[in-house]
Amino acid sequence: MFFVVNFSMNKLEHIGIAVADLEASEALFTKLLGVSPYKREVVESENVITSFFQVGDVKIELLAATHEGSTIAKFIDKKGEGLHHLAFEVDNLEESLTEKANSGFDLIHTQPKPGADGKIIAFLHPKSTNSVLTEMCQTANK
Ligand code: ZN
Repeated sequence: MFFVVNFSMNKLEHIGIAVADLEASEALFTKLLGVSPYKREVVESENVITSFFQVGDVKIELLAATHEGSTIAKFIDKKGEGLHHLAFEVDNLEESLTEKANSGFDLIHTQPKPGADGKIIAFLHPKSTNSVLTEMCQTANK
């Protein structure tokens, strides 16, 4: 079956990867991807430092904990380093959150919050998305 609904995701915006040592993983992914990261950014509210690579249309976001209470530190404790989340771009994050909640998805964030790289973001709970932690993001002030 194929559905097109009003609130379809625009595109895969980035893939988040949890890493223990940002410096080491930046070097590794630079070698792997053949490009250097174009920015590092701390997201205070999440206790993470991020590093972004542009690969064609998609970004790779490395995420490292800045604090042991960070969700990334907990994730690595439980599952080890690796794939953390998929992030899809939407036109209107608030409306998309309402639509996803009404469609039966569990929201981690019921309101948009500031994310890295000029985005507002919100996460859906992986228990309602086949264990794939899913972020929706919108360019801020759009
Ligand atoms: Zn992300």
